Amino acid sequence: MSYLKVSEVSKRYDSGSLALEDFSLQVQRGGVVSMVGESGSGKSSLLRIIAGLEVQSEGVVHLGDQKILNPAQKLVPGYDEIQLIHQEYKLYPNSTVEENIARPLLLYDKEYQKERTEEILDLLSLQEFRDKKPRQLSGGQQQKVAIGRALSIEPEVLLLDEPFSSLDVIQKRELIEELKGIFETLEVTVIFVTHDVDDALLMSEELLIIQKGKLVQQGNVRGIFWHPANEYVARLFGYLNPVPGPEGAYVRPSEVKVTGENGLKAKVVSQQFLLHYNLLTVKLADTDVVWKVDDPNRVFEVGDDVCLTYENESLIRFTAS
Ligand code: ADP
Ligand code: MG
Repeated sequence: MSYLKVSEVSKRYDSGSLALEDFSLQVQRGGVVSMVGESGSGKSSLLRIIAGLEVQSEGVVHLGDQKILNPAQKLVPGYDEIQLIHQEYKLYPNSTVEENIARPLLLYDKEYQKERTEEILDLLSLQEFRDKKPRQLSGGQQQKVAIGRALSIEPEVLLLDEPFSSLDVIQKRELIEELKGIFETLEVTVIFVTHDVDDALLMSEELLIIQKGKLVQQGNVRGIFWHPANEYVARLFGYLNPVPGPEGAYVRPSEVKVTGENGLKAKVVSQQFLLHYNLLTVKLADTDVVWKVDDPNRVFEVGDDVCLTYENESLIRFTAS
């Protein structure tokens, strides 16, 4: 059963740029999906349209049976049920953490306000910061308060538009993993938008890949990793080495074994020391083709003659073009 449903949405801005083209998408109730796409691919436009904050040129968005009205159709744009959070999401600087979280609840009865604020403070492990002002918190904690504030009115859908881009890697990973558990507990439907596949995968194995305003692939990461629709999708997951021959097949660096004998002949032209392995650049013999391959035992040096092997099952071919 689809719950959040985007049907054939297009968006053309007055400037003429086509940000979304015939975009359709369905997310199950309580589903958490990550959307990945390069900068300018239309991610933010899509989330604003889903939230009812932007007028689409064509198409319609439904939440359950409810049609989402856009700002041209609705006096006060947006919906309490659908909360959009982005990087520059502002907290009230002179209010405490507790007051920030309680703010959206002002129209509800006092008893519920108190109860719900405590729930959120507990859920997000923010009790010890409840009396602090935003400037006394780290960037990660501030973003958590922003999410707590959005969750306070029990939204059904949370749209996260690259909300962690300003955080350092460790803060970001910890926060994503913590939030993932919280979203599961709350059974809230989430679309998490990012340009970083690593971040996307920390949140969810279910991926949506957007390219130039079009949904190019959707599904579990395992399927997308091994059967990418096109080169753009495949390259989001890292290097691709072109296999010589007419077939148009590729192999990933991690799937190539480097040995001293037997296999495709090549010469090491450069070596990079990375955290878990050496990354070698090798030139295939009698060609100008250059590959990247992993050397997990750090044994090969620049100038070495090597042989490369790989399993046929690890070859990648694009499923669309
Ligand atoms: P992303 O979030 O993936 O970076 P956006 O949705 O922000 O992508 O932008 C998609 C395209 O639409 C880009 O070409 C961008 O320049 C254009 N665009 C976005 N917002 C506006 C706007 N308010 N006015 C005109 N063009 C816009
Ligand atoms: Mg954006």
